[in-house]
Amino acid sequence: MTSQMNESNHFDAIVIGGGPAGLTAGIYLSRARLRTVIISDGVPGGQMILTHEIANYPGVESISGYQLSNIMKMQAKKFGCVIRANSEVTGLNLEGEVKEIVLSDGQIYTADSVILTPGGRSRTLNMPGEAKFKGRGISYCATCDGDFFTGKEIFVVGGGNSALEEAVSLTKYATKVTIAHQFDHFQAFEYAVEEAKGNPKINFVMESSIVRFYGKEKLESVDLKDLKTGEINNFRTDGVFIFIGYVPNTEFLKEVVTLNQWNEIVVDTDMATNIPGVFAAGDSIVKRYRQVTTAVGDGTIAALAASNYIHQLKTKSLHESLTQ
Ligand SMILES: Cc1cc2nc3c(=O)[nH]c(=O)nc-3n(C[C@H](O)[C@H](O)[C@H](O)COP(=O)(O)OP(=O)(O)OC[C@H]3O[C@@H](n4cnc5c(N)ncnc54)[C@H](O)[C@@H]3O)c2cc1C
Repeated sequence: MTSQMNESNHFDAIVIGGGPAGLTAGIYLSRARLRTVIISDGVPGGQMILTHEIANYPGVESISGYQLSNIMKMQAKKFGCVIRANSEVTGLNLEGEVKEIVLSDGQIYTADSVILTPGGRSRTLNMPGEAKFKGRGISYCATCDGDFFTGKEIFVVGGGNSALEEAVSLTKYATKVTIAHQFDHFQAFEYAVEEAKGNPKINFVMESSIVRFYGKEKLESVDLKDLKTGEINNFRTDGVFIFIGYVPNTEFLKEVVTLNQWNEIVVDTDMATNIPGVFAAGDSIVKRYRQVTTAVGDGTIAALAASNYIHQLKTKSLHESLTQ
């Protein structure tokens, strides 16, 4: 890392990622009068931007993800937080007391503390029409979207614990849930399989996969392929929930902080990583429930712990300068 570092690029804290975890951390840090920058590789908001309607954020009955992102962004800015949108972090040197971050345009930022909130993404089927109907009939989150399918007939794709447990939870809303799974057996705990099999609203199509999504404005039907015979049939449906895994956006953090076998960032209860002064929050950490509310909670804890760390660092250096 080279010469482009200067005083104005030094912050008390750098937050990597502008989703709800990062924006919350930005709000808390800036309000604590700490010089803070949030670096977001796109428009701030993270996965919230993809969300047509958020109806489970306490205190707000219903709001679009875009609107909620905008409010969080304005709140952070009001307290003086700097937001660098459309900038990706491509390099990090976090080991020393001064942390260094390299952006995609080559600029270097430094800080006393860093909060990692890169979020993640659901694994997709990668079939024609999937991108078009994401949020318009195709969902990756039952807690978020289940209610929108009340009284409807839907498909669930997947055969692990998430797929089976979420299929059962979706029967609270949908009249019929068809689980489509590519193998002839499930990769789930026996209790989850039994619960799904015992639910009269759930039926199964094994060794089958959805290979195309159709509709005009919203999803209307899917092509389902029998993987044994190769035969394809079209089925009308109001919705498809896809639960085939989750990928944290931590590729750039490999060899930098400790990740678990699923590439999730390992943190303690203060959201501290294995490196002093480096914290992590939101969907990218080791956790089970990934929601805006949980990301906001993690972001709060990480920011408070980072504030405390920065305070101790400043106190230590003041003490050192007085005793010299
Ligand atoms: C379609 C959909 C609907 C949802 N609906 C709901 C809902 O109704 N209610 C609810 O509570 N939750 C919902 N969720 C889940 C919720 O959006 C997430 O749990 C939450 O956004 C996670 O927040 P985060 O800040 O941890 O990560 P993210 O929101 O993923 O934000 C992380 C950001 O960091 C960026 N980033 C990654 N790497 C870098 C890098 N190197 N440099 C700079 N930036 C980087 C990412 O691109 C992203 O913009 C939904 C999710 C989806 C996909």
